Amino acid sequence: MTARLRIGIDLGGSKIEGAAVDASGSVRLRVATPRNDYRATIEAIVALVAEIEAQIGATASVGIGMPGAISPITGLVKNANSTWLNGRALQHDLEAALGRPLRLANDANCFALSEATDGAAAQMESVFGVILGTGVGGGIVIRGQNLAGANAIAGEWGHNPLPWPTPNEVPGSLCWCGRSGCIETFLSGPALAADHRRHGGQKLTPPEIAGAAERGDPDCKATLMRYMHRLARGLAAVINLIDPDAIVLGGGISGIAMLYERVPQLWLPYIFSDRVGTRLLAPLHGASSGVRGAAWLWRPEEEW
Ligand SMILES: [Zn+2]
Repeated sequence: MTARLRIGIDLGGSKIEGAAVDASGSVRLRVATPRNDYRATIEAIVALVAEIEAQIGATASVGIGMPGAISPITGLVKNANSTWLNGRALQHDLEAALGRPLRLANDANCFALSEATDGAAAQMESVFGVILGTGVGGGIVIRGQNLAGANAIAGEWGHNPLPWPTPNEVPGSLCWCGRSGCIETFLSGPALAADHRRHGGQKLTPPEIAGAAERGDPDCKATLMRYMHRLARGLAAVINLIDPDAIVLGGGISGIAMLYERVPQLWLPYIFSDRVGTRLLAPLHGASSGVRGAAWLWRPEEEW
């Protein structure tokens, strides 16, 4: 095999994206993810891999970033907010359908791997990658390697309770995971929009709220400030635990520029250190980090 191309698949709740990644660039294709349909999801991934391989004229290793994770104990999907995947033998079924071994990892782990390899946090020793989108996920990269964890949940920060809650943040909203007051119920994109409405605001998307806040709208400024306080507390708990060199934000919320200036000021009182050197960074590869990190679940020199 000559110049090794690696295929990365980003299996998301609203779309499946695939790319062939090499040192010089990528071929990019997108197909819609069938929702609530396991068999159609498998078929869509098989078709996407076939389409990419037809374009590149070769077969390639395939890495897949997915919501949730494959349980190391049962081999079945768990923790996916695309709940129709849960309890399914996704790795086994995809390996049978594609006729090759696959690597699957949590989508936030793939995001963190991409940004820690040659993205916003390139070459930093320890990186926490966060996805703030329709859900909230996290992944940890130490010296260029994902930390998967004994239960494949390392970095799964979104289903901890929001730390240092104020009285009106307790018990919090019911989460799809069955608990209440999870970080995800405060920090996802839909949670930001819902919080704005709960405080009497209009029905706006997170980018609309951020834009209006920048133009001086007092209600939107207040919503964004509540959000940034919560994000700061959530990230302070991560810093106290793993003390990363950098935290890289991804997902739709990561486009709000004000976060990078304000949140590192707001997290200071909660961090057990006199000075804080951890940097909060915007992603370099943005939405592409999903497929890039998935492709890099296989290293260039590896046989597959
Ligand atoms: Zn939860």
